[in-house]
Formats: sequence, structure tokens, C-alpha cells
Amino acid sequence: MEIYRMELLISPCSQLLTLAGPAAPRRGAEQAELGLIVDGAVWIVDGRIKMAGPRSQVEQAVGARSIPGISAEGCVVMPGFVDCHSHPVFMESRISDFERRIKGSSYQEISASGGGILSTVRKVRAATEEELIQKTIPRLWSFLAHGTTTLEAKSGYGLNLESELKMLEAIRKLKKLTPLELVPTFLGAHEISLEYRDHPGGYLEEIINSMLPEVGRRKLAEYCDGFVGPDILTLAAAESLFQAARNYGLKLRLHADQLSHSGAARLGVRMGAISVDHLDRIGEEEVALLAESSTSAVLLPGSVYHLGLNSYPPARRLIEAGAVVALATDFNPGSSPVLNMQMILSLACTQMRMTPAEAVVAATINGAYALDRGSHCGSLEAGKQADLCIMDVPDYREIPYYFGVNHCRMVFKHGRLVCSKDSPIENVNPIGQA
Ligand SMILES: [Zn+2]
Repeated sequence: MEIYRMELLISPCSQLLTLAGPAAPRRGAEQAELGLIVDGAVWIVDGRIKMAGPRSQVEQAVGARSIPGISAEGCVVMPGFVDCHSHPVFMESRISDFERRIKGSSYQEISASGGGILSTVRKVRAATEEELIQKTIPRLWSFLAHGTTTLEAKSGYGLNLESELKMLEAIRKLKKLTPLELVPTFLGAHEISLEYRDHPGGYLEEIINSMLPEVGRRKLAEYCDGFVGPDILTLAAAESLFQAARNYGLKLRLHADQLSHSGAARLGVRMGAISVDHLDRIGEEEVALLAESSTSAVLLPGSVYHLGLNSYPPARRLIEAGAVVALATDFNPGSSPVLNMQMILSLACTQMRMTPAEAVVAATINGAYALDRGSHCGSLEAGKQADLCIMDVPDYREIPYYFGVNHCRMVFKHGRLVCSKDSPIENVNPIGQA
């Protein structure tokens, strides 16, 4: 990522959320600590935070020199969102599945008639890498325009060697095509490929013996993920997959206990996964295990909402027990077509009873730790990447309160303005024009 070589002073900020604190993910009471400063300022030098604090202190440190400045009067200034779970690379929406589900069709009926995840897989397999890239670029700009500056991006719609590699190669190229920082995850074990419906074990062998070695050799992913569920990845299969993934230097994360209580969260904690995601069906035993572990609980309320369910994960119990809670969109065409983290904050508050402060922590600094980037982003502290957004509200609690709209006025990545409400997105500092 190119670093913008300049100084910038954002002052005054009506509310500055620094998220400053110890160099560790926030849990328990810390989950609500925003490092909030009324009348704050942020000084950026060469793409990094030089200082973020009370306006009088920052302006005194800048001194009499004249440097470019932006006023955030009447606004909240906060770290860019770190969205630690998404599936942004695909061809088309699944709008007809959505309509059929509303009219009462079951997941099985939709799959049997050619819909569901395998319809996304068919289109991804038929597409070229370039077509996937062109479909994904506008989505990445939309993430940025809604304040997300770092995004995890999974494969998992190829389900064979050629197409899983195609997705990951597309993600590698996409890293250079927009300012959004992408963190790649290999999700070959998203679903059993159609060719292996009668012998799922064969698909696991293909992942372990042919996909993982090539993903490792080409260094295409940081993480290996798997969807643990009765008809997809059994606990024993997930354990074999993760043991193999470690041999290629991949860190672990998994889709756990979304549709059924499978024991996947327990497996993730035992194997040292960086996160276990969804957790809609976990019990008290898993809550206690997560509270004792360093594995993050990544909650994805967008999928519960979009599927019209009310099985939201037990956020309050997790926070009160002392687990590390992060929030993400789970952006995908089947169950969670939302790329706006502000909407996720609203769902977290109204449906899971997280306070606005807890939700902001979950979507910034804890998201960063859930991607092993806690020392680079997620808070506005000296030395960290200047990834931040200016929200057009005077009080951060209005971000989840006025739901369904985009409050972002300006978004900065590495200190550079990448989106602004005042100008068309693509015309603001396009890549390569520092
Ligand atoms: Zn997912």
C-alpha cells in the first residue's frame, strides 16, 4: 500500500473516539472503553497517527507551523471499521432465493431447484478471474464509502482447485485496485462440492492433498476457514483440515455453531483458532470456554436478520463472562448481503443488547485483533495506520440510532482521503495519484 507523504490536522473533532488502551483485545468492562475525547484533534504524518488527543494538546504539539487541516466540527472521528468476516468475491446476487424464502420455500427446496450456494459456485466457476475482479471492485468501494478500511475476504465459491485459486488470485490483485486493505482467507471447506456429494470424504482429501499445498506454495491466504456443520464438515474432518492447514503456515478461523450446536466453537478454542464466527447456537459451556481463551467470538447479526430468524448469538452473556467479542458483516450473496458496518452496529444494539460503545469496540479494535492486526489498526494511537472516518453526527450513539443510512462524511486510509460525501467516490484521490 502506497503511503501518502503529507501532514494533516483534523481539528476540531466534536467527539474523538481513540479506542486507545492496552495492546490487547478488549473484554468484559473494557469492551465499552472508547477513549472518548470531547473537542479532540488528530495529527497525521506520512500515513500514520502522530498524535490523537485533546485539541489544545495536539495543536500545541503542531506549533505555529502551517499544515493542511480539516474541520470535523459537529462530527465524530473514529477508527475505520475492521470487518473481519466477509465473502465479497462472487458474480450475482441471489435475489430469487430471497423472494422464494419470503414466500415460504425451505433451504432444501431452494437448493434442489438449482438455487442456494451451489448456484453461486456455478457462476464463479464459469467466470474468468478478470470478471470476478470487475464485479468485486464496486463492492470494495462501497465498503470504503461506509467507513470500512480493512476487510477479511474469503474464497469458498470455487470448491475445486482451479476456481478456489482463481478466487484467491482475484483477491490478491484486488488488494492493489482499491485502497481497501484485504486479508485473504482460504475457505475451500465452505460446502461439499457437487462432484463429491456421495462421498464427502473425497472432497476433504482434495482440499488437503491438492488445494492446501497450492494455496500455501503461492502464499495466497493468511487464514484457513471451514464451515462446520452436519452435512458439510464434521468435527473430525475439521480437525484434520486445520492440522494440515497449519503445516502450510495458515492461521485458523471457522464458521461455528450457526445453524446447529455442533461443538465447533469448542474445537476452534482447542486448536487455537484466532476466531470462531457466528455462534448463534452456542451454550453456556462454550461461553465459559471463550471467556478463558484468546480466541475471538465474531458475531454476525446481519445473517440472522436477513434470514428472518431470531437466533441472535448471546452477545451479553459473552461480554459479561469476559470473552473477546467482535462484529462483522458476513457480507455474502446468500445470507447477509450487507456491507455497511453501521447497520451491523444497529443490529448489535437492538437485537443483541450490546451498548453502542461495546458495538464500536467490537467493530474496530477487536475486529483488528480478530485479524491479527491489533498493532496496526483499529485505534487512533501514535504510530498506527491513519485509517479513520469522519461521521456526520455529533454523538457516536447516533450511528446505530439513525439506522439504515450512511453517516460517513470522509474516509481516510493510510492518511489519505479515499472517499468523501462531497465528491464522487472514484474521483477522490484515485490510486496512483498521491
Ligand atoms: Zn461466512
